[in-house]
Amino acid sequence: MLNDSNELYKRILDHLYDGVYFVDRDRLITYWNQGAERISGYSRRDVLHSRCYDNILMHVDANGRRLCFDGCPLMQTIEDGQERQVDAFLHHHDGHRVPVSIRVSPMRNDQGDIVGAVEIFNDNSAQLSALEQISEWQQAALIDALTGCGNRRYTTLKLQSALMEFQSYGSPFGVLFADVDHFKRVNDTYGHETGDQVLRMIAQTLMRNVQSYDFVGRWGGEEFVLLLPRVGRAGLLQVAERLRLLVEHSQLSHAAGSLQVTLSLGGTLARPEDTLETLIARADAKMYESKAAGRNRVTLFEPEEPAQTSE
Ligand code: GH3
Ligand code: MG
Ligand code: MG
Repeated sequence: MLNDSNELYKRILDHLYDGVYFVDRDRLITYWNQGAERISGYSRRDVLHSRCYDNILMHVDANGRRLCFDGCPLMQTIEDGQERQVDAFLHHHDGHRVPVSIRVSPMRNDQGDIVGAVEIFNDNSAQLSALEQISEWQQAALIDALTGCGNRRYTTLKLQSALMEFQSYGSPFGVLFADVDHFKRVNDTYGHETGDQVLRMIAQTLMRNVQSYDFVGRWGGEEFVLLLPRVGRAGLLQVAERLRLLVEHSQLSHAAGSLQVTLSLGGTLARPEDTLETLIARADAKMYESKAAGRNRVTLFEPEEPAQTSE
């Protein structure tokens, strides 16, 4: 299907920043460019001659729907010849979820018959590029070495400055407190090293799936704090639910099978009288309510609840 003159095109495609791959009518992957290697973490050797639905990218949409089995855009395009554009989340080799914009076009032979499809995808991880821009010495002081997200010190600074802005200029923001469910079991079953890999996977899924002006920090052990400027209650809930779902759908490959974990989240909007302590305590208390209610869920502070006093 792909003759020599196509080799030139393939070399050109290799230099695109976007990920590009071809599948034939059976959705067998016949080409995989360097961009696709970089964005997904899967090398050519890993994927060539497998099917796109063979547990590789495992695309899900924002509702957690598995596109491979229910609405694969490649399959639809092979069937109807229409181009498509879809926002989805792909499974990275290291387990986390990467937000991508996907464009799919049909590939035709000289007779005009559809012989496969080409998918072009780019990485929409906005927050990550924001963190990459801080200088090297700041990285050492502010970035958590294990996960690559903000450390507790950076998180504290971010929350304090958001509170000051809120109190001076009325710029609202929300906070989420996330704790990994039954994480001790992961360490006990698979070892501490694998536990660390799971923490990295979660941090990557969180960082890649928020806006560039949002902030993700590691508060301690298996706890993360997120700062979300410019959100109201509905926005806070939407972000929290999306992240909960994407972590649930992140999976680390392991000799013993694939490893998945869930998060319990608590959230609140900042209040004018808040200090760092009252703000975190409120989000943390809501996270514990999520634990008590069965884990893998989001609980938000309700505006009519009595405000918590600082401890
Ligand atoms: P729950 O659903 O109630 O949160 O259960 P849990 O097991 O997650 O709760 P618990 O607080 O008992 O366990 C947290 C575990 O996280 C215990 C600790 O060994 C582990 N942990 C903390 N920091 C790290 C780390 O940096 N790496 C690894 N691998 N494990 C860590
Ligand atoms: Mg904990
Ligand atoms: Mg926990």
